Amino acid sequence: MQRKGFSFFNFKLPQVPPDDRGKSLTQLIKEESQRWKEHMKKKKEDGSSALPAKYFYRGLMLFQFPSQMYVVLYYIIPYFFVDEWTRYYFGVLCWFLGINGIANWLCVMLYDPSFPVSRDKPSIPVQKTWDNPPDRFNPLIQESVQQNGCAVYDMSGKDGLLWQYCNKCQIHIPPRAHHCKFCKRCILKRDHHCVKVGNCIGFNNQRYFIMLTFYAMIVGCLGGFLTFMYLKDVYWVKEAKSWTDLIPPVAIFRTIFGNTNLHNCFLVIHVYIEPLFGLFGMFYFTTQMSLVMEGKTMYEVTKKRPVISSNTINRNIKSVFGDFWALNFFFPMTIIFKQRDDGIHWKGLKYDHNANKKLEGDIV
Ligand SMILES: [Zn+2]
Ligand SMILES: [Zn+2]
Repeated sequence: MQRKGFSFFNFKLPQVPPDDRGKSLTQLIKEESQRWKEHMKKKKEDGSSALPAKYFYRGLMLFQFPSQMYVVLYYIIPYFFVDEWTRYYFGVLCWFLGINGIANWLCVMLYDPSFPVSRDKPSIPVQKTWDNPPDRFNPLIQESVQQNGCAVYDMSGKDGLLWQYCNKCQIHIPPRAHHCKFCKRCILKRDHHCVKVGNCIGFNNQRYFIMLTFYAMIVGCLGGFLTFMYLKDVYWVKEAKSWTDLIPPVAIFRTIFGNTNLHNCFLVIHVYIEPLFGLFGMFYFTTQMSLVMEGKTMYEVTKKRPVISSNTINRNIKSVFGDFWALNFFFPMTIIFKQRDDGIHWKGLKYDHNANKKLEGDIV
């Protein structure tokens, strides 16, 4: 076949496919939007819709950590603190917060929260059904039948938490483990899938996730406040010419053309990102800590699973953070202090048999 070189005169407009000939423009737009909707629905179902968020937040962290350390150490600390010792100790504190934040972030991403497929599974009864369950449990049983092909919410056992079968992974999974459509595997004690870190939060990495949100809260709130004060006192007075200079693309444009310094550009971008980190951190840290203290997971709360824990608050916290749990606030340390549970057996936890009656206001 003879190859034709590109010629301007050979250029043709795209042809209308034969099927679409004779259709009106509104009809074509309608069909195209329908195709787009189906495409997006499929992406949501197979979990690939979460991918862009994962890479966006990873890029954001890789930008934020070095740039924030740079402006804090070289501009913000020298501006706010005159005393040499105060500068030194504040610098140490900033390194401590930054390194802890990054270390916990890496741990959340790198620890595998899934239930290993290759592990020898005990033979357990998974196909029992519960005779005459209270109404409240009917949706749970139906959902289980639809998802797993069998009803496993058998309350006749002592603790009421039984193994299930995952149709997608084709393995038996322990109580509180659930399949994640984004990770495409079963997650031990699944809490939720975090699109920002791009991993599921479960038994193996929840402690790091909570610490990450703790550091994000402190770094975001403290950093946001100091950045705002610096911009107000220095940038606004000396360099900015109008309010538009506080818009990140304008600041980047001015930096490229030499109108302002690189650190000012970083600070203008940070003043938007840091409060966002602070608010996200605060929201997740408070909700996660209250769930951990109650001994529940976000999955169970959002799906209205009536799980109740008879363990003490201290025991519930140790289940997630291990012994000497307060030390987690200083460094991530699975190797030294292991968690109390194994992610498979749940002592002191059961389904609430009276959940149905409590809903109706009866005291049982
Ligand atoms: Zn699965
Ligand atoms: Zn997941």
